[in-house]
Amino acid sequence: MRKKSRGEHSASLYVHIPFCSGKCPYCAFYSVRPGKEDVSRYLASLDLEISMLGRSYGTLPEIRTAFIGGGTPTVLDPVQWRNLLSLLESRFRFLHGAEVTVEANPNSIRQEHLDIWRKWRVTRVSVGVQSLNDGDLRALGRPHDSRQSLEAMSAVRNSGFSLSADLLFGLPLQDLRIWSRSLEGVLSAGAEHVSIYQLTLEKGTPWGDFPPEGLAEGYSFYRWAQYFLERRGLRQYEVASFAKPGKWCRHNVSYWQHRDVIGLGPSAWGYLNGVRTRNASNLDEYVSFIGKGDSPVCFSESLKGKDLASEAAILALRTRWGIRFERYRKRFGEEALRGLLEELDGLPPRLFRRNGVSVALSREGMRVGNAIWERLLP
Ligand code: SF4
Repeated sequence: MRKKSRGEHSASLYVHIPFCSGKCPYCAFYSVRPGKEDVSRYLASLDLEISMLGRSYGTLPEIRTAFIGGGTPTVLDPVQWRNLLSLLESRFRFLHGAEVTVEANPNSIRQEHLDIWRKWRVTRVSVGVQSLNDGDLRALGRPHDSRQSLEAMSAVRNSGFSLSADLLFGLPLQDLRIWSRSLEGVLSAGAEHVSIYQLTLEKGTPWGDFPPEGLAEGYSFYRWAQYFLERRGLRQYEVASFAKPGKWCRHNVSYWQHRDVIGLGPSAWGYLNGVRTRNASNLDEYVSFIGKGDSPVCFSESLKGKDLASEAAILALRTRWGIRFERYRKRFGEEALRGLLEELDGLPPRLFRRNGVSVALSREGMRVGNAIWERLLP
C-alpha cells in the first residue's frame, strides 16, 4: 500500500485508459478491445482505486497536471467520458492553471469529445498522428488515414486546445522526403508541440517476433527533425519532445524531475514519496484485485543512494535544462556530483553544453543519448 504524503501537497495525475479499437502490430502497451461492460467495470474499479488511495494518503494531493492517456482514450464514448470526468472532478482538487492533457486517435475523436473536454479542464490534446503518409499508415496497421488526422488536428485547434502531435520515424520504406512532409503537415495544422519516436520492435509483439522488411535506419530522420523543427520555432526540450516556447508538456517534465505522479488504471505507473509503482497490467486482474479490496499495485521499487542519483542524472540529462550542479549536490552530496562529472568528462565535450552551474546535452548529445545513459548506470 502506498505511503501517506509527507509534506507533498500537489502531484501529477496519470489515468490509463486500457482500450483500443484494434491492436497495432508494433505496440507493446497494454490495451484491449472493450467488450460489453468492460468500460463500466473499469470506471467502477477506478472509483474504488481512488478511494483506496484517499485512505492511504489521508488527504489526496492537489493536482497540478493530469494526463489521460492509453490505449486510446477516445474509444470511450461521450457518455462514458462524462462519467470519467465527473469521477475525477468529484475526487480530486485541481490547482488553478492545472495543465490537463488528453490523448486522442484520429479515427475515434468526435466533436462531442472536444465539447465535453472544453467544458471541463482540458488544456491540451495530443493526437496520435504517427505519419501523414497513407503508405506509412497502412504499413503500420493504423486504423486511420492522413485525411482523418488533418481533420482531427483542425477540430482540436478550432476547439481552442493546444495541439500536440505524435510522429513515428524509422518506418518500413519511409524516406526523408516523406518524413519531412509529416513534420511540415503537423506544423501547418497548428501543432505547438511535437513528440517524435523511433519505431522500436518489442519482443512479444507481432513485429517484434517477425520484423517487417525495409525498416529505415533512424539517425538521419532524428537529425532532420532537430534541424527542421528548430528552424520552425520549436525548441527541443527533451530527447523526443519539441515545443514552441512555454508549450512544453509540464506533465512529462514532472516525470523527468522525479516529482510525485499518481498513476491510476491498469498498467499505470506512479511515483509517490520516492516509491515507483506499477498497477496490474491486465484489466481482469486489476478489477479482481480492487474487487477484493486489495491494492492493484503489483510492482514497486524504492530507489535509494547511487541508483536514485544515477536515475536522477539520466532523467535530467534527457531535458534541455540538464543537471543543475547545486541542486544535484544538495540532493545527493558532493561525492556523487564529482563522480558524475568525472564520468561525463570521459565523453567528447561536443556532446554537452556546459556552463559554471549546469550541464546539458548538446543537439549531438541528444542524438546519442542512449550511449550516454549506459555510462551513467550504477
Ligand atoms: S492505438 Fe496506440 S495504444 Fe492502441 S494498439 Fe495502436 S499504438 Fe498501441
